Amino acid sequence: MSANEQADVVVVGLGPGGEYVAGTLAEAGLDVVGVEAELVGGECPYWACVPSKMMTRAGNVLAEAGRVSALAGDAVVTPDWGRVAARIRDEATDDWDDRVAADRLVAKGGRLVRGRGRLSGPRRVTVGDRTWEARRGVVLATGTRPRIPPVPGLGATPYWTNRDAMAAKELPGSMVVLGGGAIGVELAQVFARFGCAVTVVEGQDRLLSQEEPEAGALAAEVLRADGVTVLTGARAQQAGHDGTAFTLGLGDGAEPLRAERLLVAAGRHADLTALGVDTVGLDPAAGAVPTDGQMRAGEGLWAVGDITGRGAFTHVSMYQAQIAVRDILGEAGPDADYRALPRVTFTDPEIGAVGLTERQARARGLRVRTSVLPLASSTRGWIHGPGNEGFIKLVEDADRGVLVGATSAGPAGGEVLYGLNVAVHAAVPVDRLRHMIYTYPTFHRTVEAALGALR
Ligand SMILES: Cc1cc2nc3c(=O)[nH]c(=O)nc-3n(C[C@H](O)[C@H](O)[C@H](O)COP(=O)(O)OP(=O)(O)OC[C@H]3O[C@@H](n4cnc5c(N)ncnc54)[C@H](O)[C@@H]3O)c2cc1C
Repeated sequence: MSANEQADVVVVGLGPGGEYVAGTLAEAGLDVVGVEAELVGGECPYWACVPSKMMTRAGNVLAEAGRVSALAGDAVVTPDWGRVAARIRDEATDDWDDRVAADRLVAKGGRLVRGRGRLSGPRRVTVGDRTWEARRGVVLATGTRPRIPPVPGLGATPYWTNRDAMAAKELPGSMVVLGGGAIGVELAQVFARFGCAVTVVEGQDRLLSQEEPEAGALAAEVLRADGVTVLTGARAQQAGHDGTAFTLGLGDGAEPLRAERLLVAAGRHADLTALGVDTVGLDPAAGAVPTDGQMRAGEGLWAVGDITGRGAFTHVSMYQAQIAVRDILGEAGPDADYRALPRVTFTDPEIGAVGLTERQARARGLRVRTSVLPLASSTRGWIHGPGNEGFIKLVEDADRGVLVGATSAGPAGGEVLYGLNVAVHAAVPVDRLRHMIYTYPTFHRTVEAALGALR
């Protein structure tokens, strides 16, 4: 198909990464076309990070009020779910209206094209009956969609994904969450705290299976304390819906689970076939678009965000977007470096992690020293009292004398992570970390104790 329109750069997908690339290049004076099939801003502000963290915040306030009330011997009143849902719709999703984000892009000089974009050859993007030739190139930033596991019967049921959970105006009486990763456990806790009877079904032998075993154990402990039933090593064999409720069979003669809602939170995947990556010589069956250190995926082609498979997080998408922008503008800058990739599971307590787990470090043949210190053993943990669950775990490359990974779980675990993130990223010698001053009484002072306990 011959191109009938021109641009300097065409950005396909305007989630956090794509919107940043398109807006920044337009501000720099390039003629940029941004193509978006749904809402400018992508998954994060409407159906993912932002509304889910508003839900978490509401659940945490409620739990904290419960802890205080319990100390005083008072009962705590659970507010109506509908009010939380309404606030999310009004303030976070703005009723799924992307005018603010769309206007922001246009104000920067970008051209917004509504529709589903598809590569139609090198430097070419087709949307409907229009095709653009991109003089400098194309940036792919189309993100991922929920992965629906091939459980017999599941496809025919009205299961929920994260989108339905964010849009729920009424709290279900009961819910099965299929998947015990970060998204599954975060949502399980929130719904349970508002009074929904939640069961989490995880096929691996622990929750948060990508993280340290201690993190998975903590997540299970706190979910159970919130009344969630946690089933690990449990594989869904059969799903059904009888018009009123879902059933989920787990095999082994066990009675099927029954719930009003079934939330599928079993990972996410990129649809490269629909994106036409074969027209530029990439494998449509691959799980991700491979990129080099400057986010190049080919001649005149860049990719950023979830689609690159380097960590499905908004901060990764934005980080990669900055690198791609520099490269497209011909500015020098360091290659993408994922050694200190941080991530936080926003449960209460938060479970932050950076770099390698102990297992990953050992698998790389490193001589590893580790330590695990409970937060409750610190002064701040003791002061905090109820809700002080958590720990610091450090993973040291003993030959280099630097931390290669760490987990900080606890109240504000995601914030405590920052110092550990710097230590892993900058390869600060453990000996230096041992001889600095840690504020008293803070949760992060547990890091000092954990450094002293490395064995
Ligand atoms: C429930 C939930 C909670 C999360 N919480 C967090 C969190 O707390 N912190 C965090 O860092 N991350 C979180 N994430 C992950 C985060 O949402 C993603 O990593 C992030 O949105 C990815 O950004 P992206 O730039 O890859 O694009 P996305 O946000 O995925 O957006 C891609 C955009 O491309 C558009 N698009 C797709 N195909 C086409 C096409 N062919 N043509 C045109 N447009 C197209 C889509 O409509 C979409 O708008 C969460 C995810 C979920 C599901």
